[in-house]
Amino acid sequence: MELRKYFEKYHDEETCIEELRDKRLQNGLSCRKCSHNQHSFRRVDLKFQCKKCGSRMSLRSGTVMENSNLPIKYWMICIELMTLSKRKFSILQIQYLLGHKRYEPIWLMVQKIRLVMQKRDEKYTLRAYSEFDSEFLKEIDKLTYKKKTKDTSEN
Ligand SMILES: [Zn+2]
Repeated sequence: MELRKYFEKYHDEETCIEELRDKRLQNGLSCRKCSHNQHSFRRVDLKFQCKKCGSRMSLRSGTVMENSNLPIKYWMICIELMTLSKRKFSILQIQYLLGHKRYEPIWLMVQKIRLVMQKRDEKYTLRAYSEFDSEFLKEIDKLTYKKKTKDTSEN
């Protein structure tokens, strides 16, 4: 796919929210309280709601996008650039392509996507939009820690 196509495909945040919602529903959501697998989606606060117990879960929760303030659009473009495109992109190139001012959040996003996409197996392309496992969570903690220590040493 041409580079331009990725940006056309994920043109606005609304489209991306809908796509992420659909991907997560396709992958199958399980309620953390009662394990029920039917959910509705609340546009008002971007949360899934369990149809059985009413418990809510945010759209990004449990995925690689959790705890990030970057638009979902960035994530989706970046995931596709890094997984579907044959070209290799540096973090600076990605930052430039997304038109984001700060390097650091883009750096962290790319690191997280790299982590989650490390293993190439049958779930490979699904992984970025699925709930991640405990192994990944540990790696994320390390990254966040590294980031914090880096920040303090720079100040
Ligand atoms: Zn439930």
